[in-house]
Amino acid sequence: IAPIDIRLLALNIFSRLENIAKDKDVTFKVKPDELAEVWVLADADRMEQVMLNLIENAVKYGNEGGKVIVHFSEGKKFVEIAVRDNGPGIPHEHLNRIFERFYRIDKSRSKEIGGTGLGLAIVKHILNAHDTKIAVMSKPEKGTTFSFKLEKAYISPASESIPEAAATQANP
Ligand code: ATP
Ligand code: MG
Repeated sequence: IAPIDIRLLALNIFSRLENIAKDKDVTFKVKPDELAEVWVLADADRMEQVMLNLIENAVKYGNEGGKVIVHFSEGKKFVEIAVRDNGPGIPHEHLNRIFERFYRIDKSRSKEIGGTGLGLAIVKHILNAHDTKIAVMSKPEKGTTFSFKLEKAYISPASESIPEAAATQANP
């Protein structure tokens, strides 16, 4: 567990998925626009897996010409990370089951798309190991949002210089 810039991590995933996004004419965005770095405490490799699985799902199951947004809301101690698509959504009766291993909705359609049904089970497992959990909200024809919270990293390369600057001002 170490400080990572999860916004940068999301941008890296966007470029890794550039090709499949282009094929479906999907646009990626991080929000809010003005946000720079977002430092959280996490295992970098595992968090990369979480973001890859969620963002890849948003593209795979989202609409042609759709939008995928990764949104950050910073609280005092936690950052909430949300991965949102404007795709067909997940029917209510499946919402609890999609985190089970090998569970896939609409077998025939999912078969065309391809996958093993492990992505979200892995996401759940990794977030569990980070003492946090995944939430999902979905509306038919409106889209789906997966979200989770991570602890903020207070000591980051970006904020380390602040106390020093304050000390210099107090003692010119
Ligand atoms: P894998 O991730 O192992 O390649 P997969 O994508 O089918 O395979 P999960 O990522 O666990 O497996 O997702 C389980 C199922 O949940 C998917 O098959 C799909 O039916 C549904 N699903 C997941 N994300 C979305 C989404 N953003 N919108 C609509 N349906 C989704
Ligand atoms: Mg998946």
